[in-house]
Amino acid sequence: MKYSTFFPKTLKTAPSDEVAINAKYLMRAGFIDKLMAGSFTLLPLGWRVVAKINNIIREEMNKTGAQEILMPLLHPKEIWNETGRWDSAKEVMYQFEKNEREYALSFTHEEIVMDLIRKHVSSYKDFPVKLYHFSTKFRNELRAKSGILRGREFMMKDLYSAHATEEDLMKYYFEVMKAYVKAFERIGLEVKVTEADGGVFTKQHTHEFQVLCETGEDTIYWKDDWEYAKNEEVMDETTKGGDIKSAKSIEVGNIFPLGTMYSEKMKALYTDQDGVQKPIWFGSYGIGPTRVMGTVVEVSHDEKGIIWPESIAPFQVHLIVLENQESRIRNQADELYESLVGAGVEVLYDDRDVGPGQKFADCDLIGIPVRLVVSAKTFQLGSGQKGNMVEWKKRSDSESKLMDFDEVEKVLSVST
Ligand code: ATP
Ligand code: MG
Repeated sequence: MKYSTFFPKTLKTAPSDEVAINAKYLMRAGFIDKLMAGSFTLLPLGWRVVAKINNIIREEMNKTGAQEILMPLLHPKEIWNETGRWDSAKEVMYQFEKNEREYALSFTHEEIVMDLIRKHVSSYKDFPVKLYHFSTKFRNELRAKSGILRGREFMMKDLYSAHATEEDLMKYYFEVMKAYVKAFERIGLEVKVTEADGGVFTKQHTHEFQVLCETGEDTIYWKDDWEYAKNEEVMDETTKGGDIKSAKSIEVGNIFPLGTMYSEKMKALYTDQDGVQKPIWFGSYGIGPTRVMGTVVEVSHDEKGIIWPESIAPFQVHLIVLENQESRIRNQADELYESLVGAGVEVLYDDRDVGPGQKFADCDLIGIPVRLVVSAKTFQLGSGQKGNMVEWKKRSDSESKLMDFDEVEKVLSVST
């Protein structure tokens, strides 16, 4: 992709009304654009990152046997009345009236999935059912000052599972827990699995996936001999003593063993081996990919900009050409670009007629893992026997080294 034709370019200054580092960097570097508080467009760079995050999550969900669907975001009031959440979750739901009917914009999908299941599943032989989708969630968030970490409209991957027995539900619940840890590891985030309260969803304990970060809104506690960390709500007198560590953190995922509460209220029953009608065991499991992108920026940046992990970087390589008015240098950079793209490498190529200072600053701000520079200097060094040379530098290192084109292609195409 040539940066000269890329939309949009970087901004010189950070937006003054955003305090969060994720919003400042993502907006300046051209990953997101703000429509209003808590509402962002994913621009081409941001969408590439979120698509990579989604793909990693999708692969890990599929490995658990889950199937991908896509559910509506406009919901009738009647379905929310079945569980009482039209009233109990009023604060968070966007509700409105149109043509004398009442609707809500999706803030989650338990009721919708339960309706699907009761229509299509009736026998113990039909279980388990594991369904997920990626879609927008709408929540009336009052604290919209954490940039893309807390959107009023944001992306969620939500998985739902239905089972004939509690035992089967809990077996799958822990399988999803492992799949989440694996997904976050592949994304480049270290998570602490944390015991938490059920909130508006359930009276039972749930598990959250927390990333340690000073700017986080949550606080978690842990001891070396605890299997799970704990969040504020589940700490009590008995767990407070001793050598407990605590830190600020960001919740990137949450899983809920919901039990039979929803199926009892919504009359989602199945017939067991003995012909007896029983309520379905139900769980739900969420990750917020847009919050994940913001979290990576919060924990992986320096004073110059973002430092993306390879697995979710918008491009693998940021190629810069200096002195590009000289056609032989420009031609050489074009040649490297074409051959890398031909080898399947994702390249952002800064071919603009702007000075080196701006190209380097933009490159550091955008944060692609590898920077390649073709210039009069590398051209000189490459002439003679050596073959074409280019300067290679990792975003996370300060040292650069010279490599020839063949070597660059070899190293990069291995990692695609
Ligand atoms: P929080 O406590 O931060 O408000 P939550 O516990 O209400 O979040 P869940 O209902 O557990 O959120 O949603 C599952 C996941 O969706 C969260 O772990 C998070 O990754 C993401 N998420 C939730 N709310 C938002 C939001 N407002 N903006 C972006 N992502 C969000
Ligand atoms: Mg949660």
